[in-house]
Amino acid sequence: MTPSATAVELKSCPLYINGKAVISTGPKDIQHNPATGEAVAEIPRCTPEEISAAIDAAHKAFPAWSKTPVVQRCKVLFKFRELLEANAQELVGLITEENGKTRDEAQGSFDRGIECIEFACGAPTLMMGDTVDRVGTSVDSWSTRYPVGVCVGITPFNFPIMVPLWMFPLAIACGNTFILKPSDKVPRTAARMVELAQQAGMPPGVLNLVHGAKSTVDQLLTDPRVRAVSFVGSSAVAKYIYETSANNGKRVQALGGAKNHSVVMPDADMKSTVAAVMGSGFGCAGERCLATSVVVAVGEIGDPLVKELVRAADNLTVGDGCDVKTGMGPVITDESKKRILSYIELGEKEGAMLARDGRKDAVANGKGYFVGPTILDKVNPESRVAKEEIFGPVLSVIRVKDLKEAIEVVSQSEYGNAASIFTRSGGAARQFTQNVTAGMVGINVGVPAPVAFFPFSGWKSSFFGDLHALGKDGVNFYTETKVVTCRWPD
Ligand code: NAD
Repeated sequence: MTPSATAVELKSCPLYINGKAVISTGPKDIQHNPATGEAVAEIPRCTPEEISAAIDAAHKAFPAWSKTPVVQRCKVLFKFRELLEANAQELVGLITEENGKTRDEAQGSFDRGIECIEFACGAPTLMMGDTVDRVGTSVDSWSTRYPVGVCVGITPFNFPIMVPLWMFPLAIACGNTFILKPSDKVPRTAARMVELAQQAGMPPGVLNLVHGAKSTVDQLLTDPRVRAVSFVGSSAVAKYIYETSANNGKRVQALGGAKNHSVVMPDADMKSTVAAVMGSGFGCAGERCLATSVVVAVGEIGDPLVKELVRAADNLTVGDGCDVKTGMGPVITDESKKRILSYIELGEKEGAMLARDGRKDAVANGKGYFVGPTILDKVNPESRVAKEEIFGPVLSVIRVKDLKEAIEVVSQSEYGNAASIFTRSGGAARQFTQNVTAGMVGINVGVPAPVAFFPFSGWKSSFFGDLHALGKDGVNFYTETKVVTCRWPD
């Protein structure tokens, strides 16, 4: 994003410090609508003073918020949920404008975000400790949970509302205060969401919002007042966040990138499998951390499967996500588009067969950052397109002879976010589930995203840390346990 001369006409994006909207005095970048390429807003990079003020606000708000009864904390979140629902259409529209995904996809991610608030509202139960009477003569023992302190959330561009909602509602319900640093590519949805949180009665300083990229993040990771860091983004940055946070004495959960596989067995139901693989591979323009990127076709299903996938891809309407007819929107930036196109070129060089070339679609050659759905067939499992995260609408098909070979292909991946199998055989599904090295497994499901009460449990280079986001892991991450050992004579 580079500043342009038209900046004066653009929308602005506030930060929130101590409950107040602030216009940053830092330098600005220009945000473009990915469907049109037009400049839409000015995105600030916060100054060090602004970031320090946000940390200070969260630090000062912590003692009172952590002692506010948990049911009262949850009441604010109930109200916040109500305000989000009341403003759903506006927020869904903002997601589409910033990110490019279709309105249906934006609505789906909004709904999943709401579920995270609902989960967080269970904090009175989730925070319960354990008790054992008579661990010794006249001695009882129990554990209680305490909030950690100031927590930071750093989020990616692909889910402007859902991923922040993985983090701060649970952190805040558990009694922590929070600083959100959304993606510098899609910060306006987050700003509107934080505004609604203030309207819901979030006390000043409990939820703060700052903007920027590396230097903003570095200041948050090194400030001693910050106790915990939640990150979602690419693996290279996740590893950096994990190491830097840990070196600075903070607890950290860093969710990274992915290269997800869908294994299709010869007995799979063709119609529902093709629909699921299409939704997973090309939904959100392939920009999902659970998107299928590699289809592993087992035995004789290869030819008919590729034929059906190509047919379905030919029928996919690619265009502006605002249009109700659109089935797939643009990718996020011109830079992303160029990277994805270079991977298609690389796939050809590496010997793959181009079963469908999305570069030739008319929409890919007009305004906006569009890449048509692309299918590379007979991909070598050792090639770079088979191994590296492309994060765009490109499916690589690898042909294998049996399930054992399919599991080997999946398990040799550096990443371990998701893997799915499509089959009518319970035995094959069981063998797959038990042997595959991925943390989220789908059986006849293309995007095996756990609901909020389970952890989002990536493995290998898809996750750095010990406790995942959401579920019981999330509660453990945002709380510290105190164990009391008490002696009173009988
Ligand atoms: P990214 O890593 O470029 O950015 C993520 C966040 O880190 C942003 O807020 C960004 O401003 C910040 N950032 C970027 N570079 C940084 C640096 N050098 N130092 C410190 N901070 C930096 O990721 P993205 O392009 O926004 O999102 C796409 C990636 O996120 C994909 O790899 C995708 O697989 C991954 N992702 C993973 C999950 C998951 O649950 N594992 C979920 C969604 C997205």
